[in-house]
Amino acid sequence: MQGYILKVQKVRDEDCLVTILSPNKQIKCYRFYGARHPIITQGFKLDFELVESKTFLPHLRSTMHLGFSWLIDRDKLLIWQNFMRLLADHLRDVEDSDEFYYNLLENCAKKFHRQNPIRVVLEAYAMILQFEGRLHLDMSCFICDGKLGDEIGVGRAFLIAHPACIGKNALNKDSIIRFLSTSSTAHLSDSQIKELYFILLEGF
Ligand SMILES: [Zn+2]
Repeated sequence: MQGYILKVQKVRDEDCLVTILSPNKQIKCYRFYGARHPIITQGFKLDFELVESKTFLPHLRSTMHLGFSWLIDRDKLLIWQNFMRLLADHLRDVEDSDEFYYNLLENCAKKFHRQNPIRVVLEAYAMILQFEGRLHLDMSCFICDGKLGDEIGVGRAFLIAHPACIGKNALNKDSIIRFLSTSSTAHLSDSQIKELYFILLEGF
């Protein structure tokens, strides 16, 4: 099987609980420590086998990291791992996951090589909001319900509000609406995407 390692949690000694996103499932499995076992790193794509256990989680075996050349770039890896962590939290109670999420990671992993990784994850997140029907492009503030002007503040899950209501920096409304409705950041500056990235880190 193949999947992306969303999360690795150390448990007693050197064993760990591993969460993997495969095309249709989110798999939680157990990895026994063994000196000869290859290391399991969050964010990597993994080829693996599962050995079912009657009493506990399936055991992870015969693992092999499937590389992407950009994984050795520390900055890119960190942005990727943050995105994995957010996705793991978001899907934590989901067992049968829609193929959409796996395909999205496949596409993102390909784009990371040559594109700005912050743009890639922001665009992916806009696609997630759209896919889940959580994209709110209404022209009213989600806090006070009042009409929005040209400047808006952006909150968690990219909900939009009056800058004063949400206590965030003012951003140009049209630019943000364009980004959310097209899942493209091409018209946004590097400082704008950094600002949106920090909002993304607050959680899906
Ligand atoms: Zn308001």
